[in-house]
Amino acid sequence: APHANGDRALLDRYALTVSQVRDNLTELDQLVGDGDFGDNLAGGVRRAVKLADERGVDGTTALAHAFLDDVGGTSGPLFGLLFQHLASAAPKDGGAPTAAALAEAAEAGFAAIHRVGGANPGDCTLVDALAPAARSLADSAREEAPDAPLTEAAQAAIRGALATAELRPRRGRASYVGDHALGVPDPGALAVALLFMALADVHE
Ligand code: ADP
Ligand code: MG
Ligand code: MG
Repeated sequence: APHANGDRALLDRYALTVSQVRDNLTELDQLVGDGDFGDNLAGGVRRAVKLADERGVDGTTALAHAFLDDVGGTSGPLFGLLFQHLASAAPKDGGAPTAAALAEAAEAGFAAIHRVGGANPGDCTLVDALAPAARSLADSAREEAPDAPLTEAAQAAIRGALATAELRPRRGRASYVGDHALGVPDPGALAVALLFMALADVHE
C-alpha cells in the first residue's frame, strides 16, 4: 500500500534490500571486477540513512548527496546522478510520484549517466536495467490510467538486469575480463532493478 512518507520509506526499503543482497552483489563484482560493488552500494545507502536521520534530509535527496559526495568506484557518481533525478520527481508531501514524473526522472537519469559513462544499452552495465525501466514508465505515462506502472517498470528492469548475463561487457572493469564475464549478470544492473522494485513496493 502507498506509504505516508514514501520518499523516506523508499530509502529505508532500499537500505534493507541492499543489506540483504550486499554480499551477492560483491560476489558478482568479484567474478568480473574488483569485488567492491556491494560495499560501495551499502556504504552509500548507510550514509544516506545517516543524513536523513541526523539532518532531516528527504530520502532520495539524501541518497543523491551520499552517492555524489562520498561513494567511490565507478558506480558511486552514476547512482548519485540517478538519485538526483529521482529526488526531483518526489512530491514534497511525501506522496507517490506520478508515472510521468518518474518516467522523466528515469530518462533524465539515463541521459546523465550515458553522458558521464558513455554506456549504451547492451554494453552490460546498470544502463541495461535503467533504460528498459525508463521506457516502460514512458509507455505507462502515455496511458490514461496505468494499472501498476512501477511494478511494470521493475519487471522490465529485472528482465534487463538478468539479460546482462548474456552480454559481453563493453564498459567498466568487467570489460577487461572479456568472455570470462559471459554468464555473470551485471551487479550494477541488478542493484538498479532492486531500486525499481523498492519504488514499486513503497508506492504501489
Ligand atoms: P568499480 O569498477 O570502479 O569498482 P563499482 O564496483 O562500484 O565500480 O561499480 C561497478 C558497476 O558500475 C558495474 O556493475 C556497472 O553496472 C557500473 N558501471 C561501470 N562502468 C559503467 C559505465 N561506463 N556506465 C554505466 N555503468 C557503469
Ligand atoms: Mg568494483
Ligand atoms: Mg572499485
